[in-house]
Amino acid sequence: MRAVSAQESELSAAERREALKEVFAQARGCTRCTELAATRKTVVFGAGNAGADLMFVGEAPGASEDEQGVPFVGRAGKLLEQLLGEIGLARSEVFIANVLKCRPPGNRDPLPVEIDNCQEYLHRQVELIQPNVICTLGNFSTKLLRGDPTGITRLHGQPEVLTLGRRAVRLYPIFHPAAALYTPRMLETLREDFTRLPELLALGAPEQSQSMEIPQAVEDVPEVAPAEIEGQGSEIDQLGLF
Ligand code: URA
Repeated sequence: MRAVSAQESELSAAERREALKEVFAQARGCTRCTELAATRKTVVFGAGNAGADLMFVGEAPGASEDEQGVPFVGRAGKLLEQLLGEIGLARSEVFIANVLKCRPPGNRDPLPVEIDNCQEYLHRQVELIQPNVICTLGNFSTKLLRGDPTGITRLHGQPEVLTLGRRAVRLYPIFHPAAALYTPRMLETLREDFTRLPELLALGAPEQSQSMEIPQAVEDVPEVAPAEIEGQGSEIDQLGLF
């Protein structure tokens, strides 16, 4: 995988979607986390609108996601979809991804080394999708993207402008829907935080600085031959992931 070039930020939406397919093809062959690569059924790369203004980042696929290759299809996903519907958005209008693209066995927490191994895929997704708002769901994505250990209980519902790679985005941490499934008060808070999303989206992209940091290139993600990408690309289209 390579660092984003100056021209890349000016790629058309179609070109960025093609580049995203390429990153997906790379992720599908990823064996950086030996245990996850050996136990996963699918690589759950992400799904939705590849040119979305709003991107959600959860933690890691669970059993249903691992089966289907699509993020947030279980009970937490149904709640996410319901909350989206309440603010007038369909799942197909946003992009949904996770910190980890592979299911940790037994749904254990992601390990620091796994987060580290996987983070380049998320950063590439952000670079290519170019969302205006990134809504982090729970602690793992919030801590990773903010680069800070402050927890979701302190941060939820407070938007901030953050520079990720070459791009300034509005980061909006909220509780993870899985946590809200079992705690009515948390669900209430999550719903309240959700209702502020439309006004945040209406602000558009934050001002972009001229001197953006150049993201680090990834050295050891294997290159994928164009023929392989072509084959997998059509499968991505058949799955209708993005
Ligand atoms: N929880 C997550 O964080 N991600 C999923 O894809 C499903 C449940």
